[in-house]
Amino acid sequence: MAFLQLQKDLEKLTSSAQLSNAEEDVDKIIELLTDAREKVAAANDPHTTSLTLTKLQNPIKEKLDGLNSDLKLVYKAQNEFNKSLKTAFSKAKGSLPTEHDPMEAQSTLINRAIAMHLLREGQFEVASTFIQEAQPTPEATQSQQFSSSTLEPSTSHRSQPPSDAIIADADIPSDLTSLQSKALESSFADMYSILRELKEQNLLPAIHWARENHVELEARGSNLEFELCKLQFIWLFKGPAFNGLPDNSDNGVSGALRYARENFNRFQLRHLREIQQLSAAMVYSPNLIDSPYGSIFDISAAFEEVAGSFTREFCSLLGLSAESPLYVAATAGALALPQLVKYNSKTKARNTEWTTANELAFETPLPRSMMYHSIFVCPVSKEQTTETNPPVILPCGHVLARESLQRLAKGNRYKCPYCPSEGTVKDAKEIIL
Ligand SMILES: [Zn+2]
Repeated sequence: MAFLQLQKDLEKLTSSAQLSNAEEDVDKIIELLTDAREKVAAANDPHTTSLTLTKLQNPIKEKLDGLNSDLKLVYKAQNEFNKSLKTAFSKAKGSLPTEHDPMEAQSTLINRAIAMHLLREGQFEVASTFIQEAQPTPEATQSQQFSSSTLEPSTSHRSQPPSDAIIADADIPSDLTSLQSKALESSFADMYSILRELKEQNLLPAIHWARENHVELEARGSNLEFELCKLQFIWLFKGPAFNGLPDNSDNGVSGALRYARENFNRFQLRHLREIQQLSAAMVYSPNLIDSPYGSIFDISAAFEEVAGSFTREFCSLLGLSAESPLYVAATAGALALPQLVKYNSKTKARNTEWTTANELAFETPLPRSMMYHSIFVCPVSKEQTTETNPPVILPCGHVLARESLQRLAKGNRYKCPYCPSEGTVKDAKEIIL
């Protein structure tokens, strides 16, 4: 409840505490002063000077008073929001499990996540100041030196989604220098410059990048390079009225054809069918929208889509997830927090304790996009499967935890607990859900 109230108060703050009115006042004052200065300089006689200055007095005072009252409104709103922040957090403090804070000793990890987030958001200056100021003092660094493991951009790709959020203990660097922030900064600067061009409907820098990295992209099974080239073809095909480029042989149907001849060869093997569709659409060029190819040539959302896949692929070649792990963790945390608070107050009332350290004792209402690991509870042992005790599927299709199967088995043979089939333990296959 406190959070809902906080959100309302924040809306109130953003609507009332606007500095724009004060800025306008200041601009007007500057304008009055500059005008007066010009007048004095132009006339160059004492009489005009004193007259101009006298005339200036009242309007300037008026504007200054206006500025003060505008600023007062801002201060008032800020004070009010400050109060609601204090109320909200003092309420929350009592109900959260403060006695168990797994991140308490991990300030470097948290700082690293924040620095990473700033870098990938393109906030390079803020990131570099943050990294500088979050650097531990030299003595502290010496006493807790870990083996150095770096997060330098590499062409290796990990399949785990928020890969930079999950780090084994040995990987935790003792300071932020190992973040290779300069290399990351330049990578993300490239990414943002390509994204800016994409926003302006200029696909060429993105195509250039995809071509340079085509080996890695293909290894990932990505179609990004073809999708970009295909979009470039359609964009040219639609001609000057659509793309705003000059009306010449490089544009329109002839420009698209030439582009296809120069660029589509490399995709013949993997995308022949799509290339055939694009060429067949030529026949319908006067009335494409009503043709069977209309939907392929509807590219109203295409630039946004390729920008999304470009960001995903770019980050994955850096070994990073497309979404900032800090953003995902903070959002998921905020969504799950009310449940946690509720659970905590209930168990406290019943005087029971939270016994499982690795799992939550209740459902958390997260959207699908934020679920990275499926959870499987073995129907025999009623335990959640883990990396060391993974789910296995029997040839009959029933799934249990490996340890349960081993307990059920007599020697090499087992009998399925859910159907009459029998088999040997080695026929059970580990599955990833
Ligand atoms: Zn079975």
